[in-house]
Amino acid sequence: MMVCAANQWSGRSLVPFRAFFFGLFGARPLGCGAIGAVCGSLPVISSQGPIMIKQGTVVSMTYRLTNAAGEELDRADKNEPFSYLHGAGQIVPGLEKALAGALVGTQKKVVVSPEEGYGEVEERLRTSAKRNQFPPDAELTVGMRFAADDGSGQPIIFTVTELVGDDVSLDGNHPLAGETLHFDVEVVEVREATAEELQHGHAHGPGGHHHD
Ligand SMILES: [Zn+2]
Repeated sequence: MMVCAANQWSGRSLVPFRAFFFGLFGARPLGCGAIGAVCGSLPVISSQGPIMIKQGTVVSMTYRLTNAAGEELDRADKNEPFSYLHGAGQIVPGLEKALAGALVGTQKKVVVSPEEGYGEVEERLRTSAKRNQFPPDAELTVGMRFAADDGSGQPIIFTVTELVGDDVSLDGNHPLAGETLHFDVEVVEVREATAEELQHGHAHGPGGHHHD
């Protein structure tokens, strides 16, 4: 294994982090625990009425993500909703499936199993490297993340878990691998994606992807 790029994700860059990992794991339908509660005053999006969430729509939502113990892992609030392109694998498969067909104003609690979320913990992704496999200017610290090429062409993000002498312990599992995810979501906007968004495979604008 050759470690090739330094520290992809620094600080709280949760959106690209999420977007990256969502593509890595396979998809299988999950019977989600849906508590569908549609509010009274639905904004009218077009003359045809509200658009349903389906392939090729951009969804903005608020959410609160907790683990099985009820600890909050992540959230997006009304003042800064999260946006994604539906059907593009930008969010975990279990949540994407649960949202299909929903309208703006829909509130749902969605329970996502690890296999429909960030995957199970895989021992084979726990590995080690030597310091000289990292870029010479990389100041290694526990918790740092690196993109590594394992030869398959699909980069894997490894987290440094331990530093002992010349040995660097790495974990390529997603930090949320093995977790059952509890999402509490509210759909705040659904619109048709632009041609550019469809081409890029992600949502643009507030709460979505920003290009420099
Ligand atoms: Zn783009």
